[in-house]
Amino acid sequence: MKLSQPSAEIWTPDGTEENDALGHVTHMAITAHQDDVEIMALDGILAGFGNRGFMAVIATDGAGSPRAGRYASYSDEQMQLVRRLEQKKAAFVGEYSAVAFLDHSSAAVKDGSDPAPKHDLKTILTACHPEIIYTHNLADKHDTHVAVALQTIAAIRELPQERHPKKLYACEVWRDLDWLVDSDKVVFNLGKCENIATSLVGVFDSQIAGGKRYDLAAMGRRRANATFLQSHVVDAAEWVDFGMDLMPLIQNPQLDPAEYIQTFIQRFAEDVNRRIERFSFSKK
Ligand SMILES: [Zn+2]
Repeated sequence: MKLSQPSAEIWTPDGTEENDALGHVTHMAITAHQDDVEIMALDGILAGFGNRGFMAVIATDGAGSPRAGRYASYSDEQMQLVRRLEQKKAAFVGEYSAVAFLDHSSAAVKDGSDPAPKHDLKTILTACHPEIIYTHNLADKHDTHVAVALQTIAAIRELPQERHPKKLYACEVWRDLDWLVDSDKVVFNLGKCENIATSLVGVFDSQIAGGKRYDLAAMGRRRANATFLQSHVVDAAEWVDFGMDLMPLIQNPQLDPAEYIQTFIQRFAEDVNRRIERFSFSKK
């Protein structure tokens, strides 16, 4: 496979040949950074666990990562190596079919005039055919995350219809999706997988070492999502990730992503207002 960056890599944890690995892919996550996949797309990782069905695609090179502790003096080049190795450790733990390191700078992903990131995504999505794709959500507060979601949508829109996934989900990292009205939530029940899930995030030592406990936070969010989903019934699952359905943006290529996310925000606003309006004493 020909990717645009000389340092790009398709890595297979079990050492199988690239085409063989890609042929197994049923679930794929397309994210900005190393460790985003493990925080947001556990549903897909678990679906592919034991059958090499899951592939991670990492758009950026990790050069701009924050660093602290024993990584504080690392150069950008050293951090890139560390983060790539950590992502490979996670892929090994999660029995991924493959990881694609596209190795773009953050700036290139955010710069709409650079066609390379979208072109690389199209190359990968032409080489394999995942039924389910997970990417960042359009209300995320990290610019590179939103840019990757938009690049993913744009890449899929340019594929022939028979190459489209059956599902495209937006997921939680730098802003969760608890605010969606319940009927808008895609609920991923994650079952009993604590050992795998904690290991997947725990291998990213360079991100956790500085005191950012992504391992605890991601697991805590799942627990909170499960418990606070419905107030009047017992928890149906111990862990839940929330997603948002992005398929309408694929089915209707004219639909503006900004308009689309506004419809969710509007339903949230109406839900809040309706509840307050119900109690007329609030106006006195
Ligand atoms: Zn990220």
